[in-house]
Amino acid sequence: MRVLLVEDDEMIGRSLKQALEGAGWSADWVRDGELAQSALGDGGYTCVLLDLGLPRQDGTVVLRRTRERGDATPVLVLTARDGLDDRIHSLDLGADDYLLKPFEFRELLARMRAVVRRRDGAAHSLIGTAALRLDLTTREVAVNGAREVLTAREFALLHALLERPGAILSREQLENRIYGWGDEVTSNAIDVLIHGMRRKLGADAIRNVRGLGWRVAA
Ligand code: CA
Repeated sequence: MRVLLVEDDEMIGRSLKQALEGAGWSADWVRDGELAQSALGDGGYTCVLLDLGLPRQDGTVVLRRTRERGDATPVLVLTARDGLDDRIHSLDLGADDYLLKPFEFRELLARMRAVVRRRDGAAHSLIGTAALRLDLTTREVAVNGAREVLTAREFALLHALLERPGAILSREQLENRIYGWGDEVTSNAIDVLIHGMRRKLGADAIRNVRGLGWRVAA
């Protein structure tokens, strides 16, 4: 799953990007509000971590414009302890949650899972269909009762498909959801990934729709 990290503090940004990648997220890091806008315009993010005090365009402006465009990507605001007005303002503008700096990384991950889950319409950490249940916390998938652990990319791919069971996602849509800016994506990367997943999930778990893309059965 891809996260957009918007943070102008070099030290915080670098350590967060590293920690997020260690936790299996593909993290794109931008250091100002205008770059955040243009990255969000490209889409594909599961979640946004947004600092408010940013060069070139304030975080609250980024948030307001994002919501005005109809973009509902979950936004978790990272803010200083003394910024009560900012926090209230950002929640009113459509932020999904906020976290006070400094924070424990484990708590950040838990809050990211929570905002993503709410966007998926699930009150708990399981999403999916009767045949395929994905646990957003442990990254395990239950396939007709048996449990399999997925790699970060397998998880991102299955999560994208299970958000709307039955809907077809194109190669480009799937790549956009799985890979960040620095990732080398070969032309058959998705095919290779799905080939490996079928061995874990069964040959019919992810169906190819010729010329259009892939889907899971509703
Ligand atoms: Ca800042």
